[in-house]
Amino acid sequence: MKIVLFGPPGAGKGTQAKSISNRYSIPHISTGDIFRKNISENTPLGVEAKKYIDKGQLVPDEVTINMVKDRLQEEDCQNGYLLDGFPRTVFQAESLHDFLQERNEVLDTALLIQVPGEFILERMTGRRVCPSCGASYHIKFNPPLEKGKCDVCGSDVIQRKDDSEETVQERLTVYENQTQPLIEFYKKEGLLEVVDGTQAINEVFESICDILGSE
Ligand code: ADP
Ligand code: ADP
Ligand code: ZN
Repeated sequence: MKIVLFGPPGAGKGTQAKSISNRYSIPHISTGDIFRKNISENTPLGVEAKKYIDKGQLVPDEVTINMVKDRLQEEDCQNGYLLDGFPRTVFQAESLHDFLQERNEVLDTALLIQVPGEFILERMTGRRVCPSCGASYHIKFNPPLEKGKCDVCGSDVIQRKDDSEETVQERLTVYENQTQPLIEFYKKEGLLEVVDGTQAINEVFESICDILGSE
């Protein structure tokens, strides 16, 4: 199964992606997580990506697309994958389409987690993430079992630098201008599915499983 997951920052992509990846046994590929790993390791890719991420802007398409193409050619992607946060521009979506077409492959579903703007700020400023395993928590809506510690791996959770109020506003604008056009793109391809991301976390997951089926 090959799935694209998209939606505004804070829609719950990362949260749902972990559950989808477990349920359907496909790797969770988050471009944001790959960039952050490169930033923490101070690689050339990380140094380049940081310039944009800290400002809430998108990393240039060329850099992002090459990184994803490399990742999709790894062994564990043979039976499918879940792309979280990619594509984020129509150009990225077209590149993914061409990449798949060259291999006689197709996407199964482009899943939009829809959450209106007024929910986003509270979600983002209350978000805490695990720097080791990428798990995402919320101080109010989804706190870790032990305060400040990741449920999965026990590391101290942190607040992302780009989850400040000012950067969140910029990321929302970027979403509206550059990522929302994907809705039309995937509608035309006949792949678009939409879930209501304002439901509780487990309800969103149930809605997603209804769409993806029992494969
Ligand atoms: P994204 O990857 O789309 O940016 P996350 O999965 O990191 O979003 O979720 C953003 C924040 O909102 C996190 O703090 C997360 O715990 C919280 N969250 C995710 N889904 C829900 C939900 N359905 N209801 C309330 N809070 C949620
Ligand atoms: P969120 O979970 O809040 O949607 P991500 O972790 O997916 O955020 O992404 C964090 C940042 O990484 C983005 O604001 C952007 O700067 C960069 N990024 C992630 N994915 C992409 C992409 N497909 N294209 C360009 N930049 C990206
Ligand atoms: Zn963890």
